[in-house]
Amino acid sequence: MLRIDLTRADVEAICIDERLQLSADCCGEDVVSPGEVRLVGEVEHLERGYLFSGEARGQAVLRCVRCLGEFPFSFAERFELRLLPVAVAPQEEETRLSSSDLDVRFYAEPWLDLVELAAEQLQLAVPMKPLCHEDCQGLCPSCGADLNRGRCACPPNRDGRWNALLGFRPRR
Ligand SMILES: [Zn+2]
Ligand SMILES: [Zn+2]
Repeated sequence: MLRIDLTRADVEAICIDERLQLSADCCGEDVVSPGEVRLVGEVEHLERGYLFSGEARGQAVLRCVRCLGEFPFSFAERFELRLLPVAVAPQEEETRLSSSDLDVRFYAEPWLDLVELAAEQLQLAVPMKPLCHEDCQGLCPSCGADLNRGRCACPPNRDGRWNALLGFRPRR
């Protein structure tokens, strides 16, 4: 049940508890391999459209922006997604702007693709600049060694921009 027929919620709220396997290229370069994402929640019928409130939980392997190493990442994010028929889009623009805490999406056909939603939740959870550790030392700019594994053989302060500072000491 990877696509949900939203009109089922017209009768009674739809309970959702699905495990979704995302494709390797779903979520951008920082995500080396997405794991399984579990979506749990409920879709309710509103006066206009639907509301899906729930939680997305999962794991992925990310790439560190400093050392380019891969590291495991897990997340659990609550979300509230308002689904509105595209016909009401113009009137809803104000509501959308005034309720920035709600994610609003318009649909032409009353279907919700859970795999797409799971991929979006993972993308939202992934940090802008993923780091394997907050104090990741990164790679040596000269030889490319992973400085998390210890110092490389390069002389310190090899970067010429700092040479002028080497002889400088504040006078006291
Ligand atoms: Zn790193
Ligand atoms: Zn080096």
